[in-house]
Formats: sequence, C-alpha cells, structure tokens
Amino acid sequence: MDLHIGKARATLAERRAVDAVLGPPASGWEGGRRRSGADARTARAGREARARRHLLLPALHAAQGRAGWISAGALNYICQRLTVPPAEAYGVASFYGMFSLERRAPAVAHVCDDIVCRLKGAEPLCAGMERAMGPAGGGARKDATWLRSPCLGLCERAPAVLIAHAGEAPRETVLAPATASEVIEALKPPTAAGPSETTAAPQAKIPQYGEPGLRLLCRVDRVDPTNLDDYRAHGGYLALRRAIELGPDAIVREVLDSKLVGRGGAAFPTGRKWEAVLKAGARPHYLVCNADESEPGTFKDRVLMESDPFALIEAMTIAGYATACERGYLYVRGEYPLAAERLSHAIGMARAKGLLGENVMDHGFRFDIEIRRGAGAYICGEETALFNSIEGYRGEPRNKPPFPTTHGLFGKPTVVNNVETLVNVLDIVLEAGHAYAAIGTPGSTGTKLFCVSGHVERPGIYEVPFGTTLREMLARAGGVPGGRRLKAVLLGGAAGTFVTPEEIDVPLTFEGTRAIGAALGSGVVVAFDETADLWDTVLRIAAFFRDESCGQCVPCRVGTVRQEEALHRLARARGAGRAAGEAALLDEIGQAMRDASICGLGQTAASAVATAVAKLGLLDGGGA
Ligand code: SF4
Repeated sequence: MDLHIGKARATLAERRAVDAVLGPPASGWEGGRRRSGADARTARAGREARARRHLLLPALHAAQGRAGWISAGALNYICQRLTVPPAEAYGVASFYGMFSLERRAPAVAHVCDDIVCRLKGAEPLCAGMERAMGPAGGGARKDATWLRSPCLGLCERAPAVLIAHAGEAPRETVLAPATASEVIEALKPPTAAGPSETTAAPQAKIPQYGEPGLRLLCRVDRVDPTNLDDYRAHGGYLALRRAIELGPDAIVREVLDSKLVGRGGAAFPTGRKWEAVLKAGARPHYLVCNADESEPGTFKDRVLMESDPFALIEAMTIAGYATACERGYLYVRGEYPLAAERLSHAIGMARAKGLLGENVMDHGFRFDIEIRRGAGAYICGEETALFNSIEGYRGEPRNKPPFPTTHGLFGKPTVVNNVETLVNVLDIVLEAGHAYAAIGTPGSTGTKLFCVSGHVERPGIYEVPFGTTLREMLARAGGVPGGRRLKAVLLGGAAGTFVTPEEIDVPLTFEGTRAIGAALGSGVVVAFDETADLWDTVLRIAAFFRDESCGQCVPCRVGTVRQEEALHRLARARGAGRAAGEAALLDEIGQAMRDASICGLGQTAASAVATAVAKLGLLDGGGA
C-alpha cells in the first residue's frame, strides 16, 4: 500500500454510499486532483478535510456495507475525500475483523465459535455450514459465504450467527439459536418486500421478568423501546429533571456518595472520574459511552441498549450535564445492529422533543450524542483504543498517563463510562447517593448485572445486589441441567478466571472475588458441566487473544502466539511426560505478558489459562 492515491476508481454506487456519510464533495482537494498553483482556499479545504479524519470509520462502514468489501477504488475515494494517505487508511481498514479488503460475497454469515457457542453446538453448526457451502471464507458460491467469528454477545441464545447483506440498503440480522439450514435460508438475497433497514431477531425475555425490586432491568420487556412517551410514562426523564434541579456539582457529589464504580471490569470510582473532568480547565469536554461490549460471555449492555435505549440516552445526558460536556459519543460494537438501530431512533426522538440539542429541556445547556459503530475489534473496548478508533486511527491503546480525564478523546478531558455504569446514575440522582450506597456491600454498592450462560437451565441476564454468592446465582439460573455435576465456572470472561465447584460460595463482590484470586470483570458467569472439555475452551481462549492482540507491544504480540503454541503442545502431550517443561514455559510467558504489556488485554491474556492449570488440574487430565 502506497502513500499516494492509486489508479483504482470507486464505482458510482461506492461513491454514493461514501458521500451519504461525508456529504457531497465540496471544493479543493476533496475527491479531485490538487489544483496546480494551489491557493489559500485549496489549502484550507485540505485542512478541513483532514479535520474530518474522525469520519474514516463511518466511511469505511459505508463502503463495506455497499459492496460487501472495501475495494481499492473505494479506499482511494475515501482517502481523497478525507485527505488521508492510503497506507494509513489501509492500516485502519485492515485492523477490523468485520471489514474485508479482498473481494467478498455480498452475503456473509458470521458464525460464532467462541466459548459459550462451543458449549452449545457451534462446531456441529460450522460442520453443517462447511458441508453446505464449503470451507469458511471460501466456497464455490459467489453470492454468499460464511466465516467463523468471535463472541457475538448472544450467549444466552447460543449458538449464534450474524448475517450481513451488503447493498444499497445494507441489512444485518441475527439468528440465535441457529441451525445450518436456517443460516443458508437467511443468506438468500432479501426480498423486495423485506425490511430495508437494519433489523434483528426479537430479543429473548429476561428470566427475571416480573420480579419485584429490579432496578436496571425494571423496564426491560415492559416498556416499548421505540416509544419515548411509553418511557416517560414509566418514570423516564424524571432523573434528568432532578439532575437539572441539583446542578453539576451536586450531581457529582451524589455519584461520589453512591460509591458507584465502573461496571466494565476496571471498577474505577465513577464519581472521581466525573469530578476530575468537571474541574478540568481545557475545553471542550467529551463524554464517551463505551458500548463496545466484546468480552466473550458478556451480553448485558446489549440487552439494556436494545430494550431500554432511552434510559441510556437520559443517563448520558445527565453525565454530560454534570461534567460540562457538550458532545457525547456512543461507541456501539459492530456486532450489535439492533442496539445501534434502537439507540439511533431514541436519539432522534429525544432530539425532536428537546431532550437533546441546543437547549436541553429549556434549561440552557447544550448536549448531543453521536453514535459510532465498531467493526469487530475486541481491543476497542479499552478506553484509549476506543478514542483512537473514533478519531479514525487504528484502535491501538495509548500509554497512560496521561489519563482520559485530562487527555482523552481528541486530546481533551473525557469521561468514559460503560452502559451499565451510566444506567445506574438514574437511580442515584433520583434517590440520592447514600441511599444507593446502602444496597449491596460497603465495598461494592448497588446491584450488578450478570451474564449467566453455558451449562445452566435458564441462561440470561440477571440483576442481583452485590454480595449474592455464585452458588445462589447458578441456582437462580436453574443450576446445571440434567442432574449433571458442575465442573467449573469461568468468571469474568476470557480475561477472567476459572472457579472450582468448591469455591462457588464466593460472594459476588469486588472484594469477595479478589479474596479467592478471581475478578468479577464485566459480570460473566459461564458454567461448565462434567461433559465439558476444558482443553477445548482454553485453546479457544488462547486463539482469541492471539487474534485480538493489537500487536503494538512485543510481550502481548509474541506472548499470545507463544501461549497458544505451548497449549497446543501440552494438549497433544497430555500424560506423555513432557508437560513439566511446557508448563514452566507457559508460566513464564504468562508472567512476561502480565508484567510488560501496555494494556489490560496482554496483562490478562494468561489469567484463565493459568487458573485452569493451577485450579482445575488441566495438565493432569482434569480438563477433559
Ligand atoms: Fe496491543 Fe496487546 Fe500491547 Fe494491549 S497489550 S497494546 S492489545 S499488543
């Protein structure tokens, strides 16, 4: 790939799709040759185009959605429009798993073969796809293909498939649970009478539907997620009204009093983040909602976004008001088409009713929200990688410090919170921080959403006060089906830790899990019964991290590869006497990744593997 624009030209259809995002070419160098004897106007146009670099990801989405791949011509056209060197744009486009820079069929089935789907028949499903269509990514058909995919965030309905149809009106649907014949049927070209916009299968009811005392899930399946009036009839926008009465300083005080900590895994005190940004002198401030929920086994934020989108929009508006942000970015993972559609609709309705925009609720403050869709990169869930992604760069984490509260998105003070964290703010504002802090335990306040999946009778999202034990959580989900024995629980997802059946009385709190060397992470609970092959799971986790490492730092880039290789050798040598040397090597690799990686991905890539070895006797035949 070159620094100069090549000869390939975009088709009319590709240009139109890109123009729909960037607007028609206006002047200067946008889409044309730089004029000889460039005048000040041309130079200004070039600067203005470069200032729109943050539109690179949406423009790439447009090209991919139109043709099913990003052709050299489409990439050239985007580069001309945004004044981005092709080599850089290529580096960005090739970073994301959902983009293809090689010709690809217009209909693609992304078949999840990650941890939970494997427990629920992903491999037989892939075998069925292979029989019908040939190997993944290949096959004889020009109109459709299939690919293996990391977790699609549909674990409660595994095995899951995301179908993408490219075209003038790109369409994405999910099938979960899916069979090979259903997938083949769904890959047929959409009919003229079919929906032209992004759609998805209806979401499953939450297992706790109708239970009293739910806070975060109280509106799920009760309120029409497309109807603002219905949301208001169920208490919607009372919290924003109350927040405006309180004012920014008092809101931040309530959030500090609540002891709310981030629900994405890092558990950083939310109030401290908000306080730092409110006080930051540099302007503007930005709010970023991290909805790039990509940890395998996690699907709670998807359920909230699909089923209660106005709650997130209201909570973001409160956060923006409290921290003096005028603009919020909502970064939704690319695999969540229905969530993106519902949120986009909710933002439009809120804007139309004066709940977003220049003069929110007639109270003289300005706040609006823009949606950005990820494109299949787990690392973009790391906050600084997410900033780079929004800004139009490869989603590679930045070194910290400086921290986002002073140098975040576009180098400005930025609040980053995930979906679940923000939705908690509604109750905190309405009932005061100290009342919220009375729920749960002194060290872990409030309620928590847990994504329970795998070998349980009723997989789904569960809301419980902090302090509920893992045993109680599994019992709520109906326990292991068929009277089979529990073999292990994966807590916290691929970056988490395995827990043994003897440890399931652990209270699900930050401090409780820490005491047994585990972590809550984003609230993943995957149960494995006695029939599960933990070697299969551990090898999939290793492949996941090898694939998702951004490659920026050596310990992680090399370590994740070496870890996977060592595990494959160990898996082959089960009981063959070579395990001791390989196990020591595995340990050393894990230590190096933990100590020397730049970000959490590398630092936690060995956690699950290490606990499977140490606690479950993986090397002594305990995993099979
Ligand atoms: Fe990238 Fe891994 Fe380094 Fe993180 S630890 S910056 S994912 S290479």
